Amino acid sequence: MAKRILIVGGVAGGASAAARLRRLDETAEIIMFERGDYISFANCGLPYYIGGEIKDRDDLLLQTPESFKKRFNIEVRIRNEVTAIDPGKKQINVKNLSSGESYTESYDKLILSPGAEPVRPPIPGINSDRIFTLRNVPDTDLINDFIDKHKPKRAVIVGAGYIGLEMAENLRRRGTLVAVVEMVDQVLPVMDKEMTCFIQQELHKHNVALWLNDAVANFQPSDSRLMVGLKSGMELSCDIVILAMGVKPEVELARQAKLEIGETGGIKVNKQLQTSDPDIYAIGDAIEVRNFALDNPTLIPLAGPANKQGRMVADNICGGNRHYNGTQGTSILKVFDLTVAMTGASEKALTKTNMEYEKLYMHPANHVSYYPGAEQMHVKILFTRPEGKILGAQIVGSRGVDRRIDILAVAIRAGMTVFDLQELELAYAPPYGSGKDVVNMAGFAASNILDGIVDVVHWNQLNKDDYILDVRSTGEFKKGNVPSSVNVPVDEIRNRFAELPKNTVINAYCVVGLRSYIACRILTQNGFIARNISGGYITYCSHQNKEVMDHPTARQLREEFCLV
Ligand SMILES: Cc1cc2nc3c(=O)[nH]c(=O)nc-3n(C[C@H](O)[C@H](O)[C@H](O)COP(=O)(O)OP(=O)(O)OC[C@H]3O[C@@H](n4cnc5c(N)ncnc54)[C@H](O)[C@@H]3O)c2cc1C
Repeated sequence: MAKRILIVGGVAGGASAAARLRRLDETAEIIMFERGDYISFANCGLPYYIGGEIKDRDDLLLQTPESFKKRFNIEVRIRNEVTAIDPGKKQINVKNLSSGESYTESYDKLILSPGAEPVRPPIPGINSDRIFTLRNVPDTDLINDFIDKHKPKRAVIVGAGYIGLEMAENLRRRGTLVAVVEMVDQVLPVMDKEMTCFIQQELHKHNVALWLNDAVANFQPSDSRLMVGLKSGMELSCDIVILAMGVKPEVELARQAKLEIGETGGIKVNKQLQTSDPDIYAIGDAIEVRNFALDNPTLIPLAGPANKQGRMVADNICGGNRHYNGTQGTSILKVFDLTVAMTGASEKALTKTNMEYEKLYMHPANHVSYYPGAEQMHVKILFTRPEGKILGAQIVGSRGVDRRIDILAVAIRAGMTVFDLQELELAYAPPYGSGKDVVNMAGFAASNILDGIVDVVHWNQLNKDDYILDVRSTGEFKKGNVPSSVNVPVDEIRNRFAELPKNTVINAYCVVGLRSYIACRILTQNGFIARNISGGYITYCSHQNKEVMDHPTARQLREEFCLV
């Protein structure tokens, strides 16, 4: 007899599962329930439609109920909300939001893909009609209509995560001045703080004001504007607020059906993506997944995992036995002219475990420097010590970031080590890379550390009494240096051994860590104890994030929002 499969949620995970189910089983009865007006829309494209980069609203709508019926013979019921599950009877209750009627449907298999909803804490004044969240097409229409009608001069975005930063860029494209308020002391809290300083600089360059380490205490609406009161006592004046404070999994249906909820608040599933009831599967933003790099339970709301889980669940319902092995959080973000990407574990996540890890910073060019247009990227790699297994990577730059992060994502998935990176044969021609690609270079540098060819130290491990040697040219040193450092350019070191201490550890730096590596090799082979400070002066500056925040432009940008 034909299987009856019901799906709750008709966007990334749900639509993906539905289409695969039909491709595998022409006879199954498949019904997809979506409480909203649209299915299979491009959530990830919504900020770019608001900003005007995506011009045609219809481009966001990838499928319609009619196209789904025609192509896949799947019944789609939009404006139909699933309100309860009865696992004992294998039934769901549904409310038709257009007619107000309720009805039940029975299933053989049920797939939950209800997603995650924007966090909206009970802050006084939060229900103002100038305050928006962004999850779906109607939210997008509301924001767009407001902008068209009121031409807001100033916007406050609450939350500096992916959606917050995308909205900052896209509201700037609409000519609105933007301030971002973030509770922690950095933008993009999933990333390690020192890597985000480049993002902050980019935001300032594009006139986005930042309030870090501060949180919204209240909103005070008035006729013509909205005052945003911060915990610090500051008051920001604006015309529109976008709340981008993160998302939380939609688990009410699952909870009411007494399905097991995991410790992180997502629906608990096994490797086959079955919930605690074997006839009910769950996928997407609503589920708790295993963190692939750290092997602990986590929530990672991203489109790629939701889509792939949808496909996998369909395979399993149709007789397959595919296992979901975890999510590693590979993500990429455009912040004006920057590309920001990461995969696997961050250092801040690693410090909460007892894993022994080492790290490496690099600032290479995206392609050979002799070919015009080379651009610098900033790379951080985390790996186990002593094995060298790659745990995580973060890259900020522009062209070529996407390719490198994807190679490293594959390396993590394949359980590769930094030693393996040395040998990867990657595509090369001058406009794209170099004979020794950035990824190979990361492998060389990390292997040098693990093989004991050079000892490494990091800025956050140094004390103020440590001996610091700057091996850049005198001109570079004069332009800016680390307080109390001593300058001996790398090419003069062999003639100036007498000036250097013999029984003290010499911590050497240059701009990026390459000349200081050479200096360390010279020194250690001549009886000195030397360590290379990874990432050099650029990483030193990125650790001094405070400078960026105290920069006159940053202050000036913030002052704009304090003018009533
Ligand atoms: C603005 C924005 C930008 C994003 N950009 C990116 C990006 O660039 N890259 C990336 O990887 N990810 C991005 N994401 C995240 C990505 O969209 C999600 O991870 C993905 O959509 C999750 O898929 P899902 O099926 O779990 O949930 P969703 O796609 O959210 O779909 C869930 C659907 O279920 C419906 N639903 C819920 N409960 C019920 C019910 N009881 N009855 C009927 N229907 C119900 C909801 O209305 C919703 O339409 C973005 C998200 C947003 C909002």
